[in-house]
Amino acid sequence: MTELVSIPGHWDFDYTYFAGEAASRFFAELRNTRVMGATCPDCRRVLVPARSFCDACFQRTTDWVEVGPEGTLETFTIITAAFPGLPEPPIVMAYVTLDGADTALVNLVLGLDLSDIGAAAAGLQRQPRVRVQYGPEPQGRITDFAFVLA
Ligand SMILES: [Zn+2]
Repeated sequence: MTELVSIPGHWDFDYTYFAGEAASRFFAELRNTRVMGATCPDCRRVLVPARSFCDACFQRTTDWVEVGPEGTLETFTIITAAFPGLPEPPIVMAYVTLDGADTALVNLVLGLDLSDIGAAAAGLQRQPRVRVQYGPEPQGRITDFAFVLA
């Protein structure tokens, strides 16, 4: 068997993320505690997070629609190692398809009992219903909300 290799590294840099037209509106709507999707005029899929073009039809999205606040947890990972910028582990990141959306949105899932990682994973594999829960002062960032079990 090949020996598994670990290669230490270090990233530490500042950057500015230019969100563009659709994502800028998506983030702005989070300040209003609304998760918005953009609709493709051809296939009618509601894309969340909102984007300017449909990735299936290559058509410019047109209408905006509020989605959620509940949805279905599609898949997840439980992070057990510390990572800069994220809460102390263990934490759960999940893809959730909010009601009314056709694509999934990734964010933290809070409020889970992670004392037994295996038991938590077994529960999440059943793809539970979750809902969006906002923090006290939304800033127009993805960190304005997390998912919690519905
Ligand atoms: Zn489309």
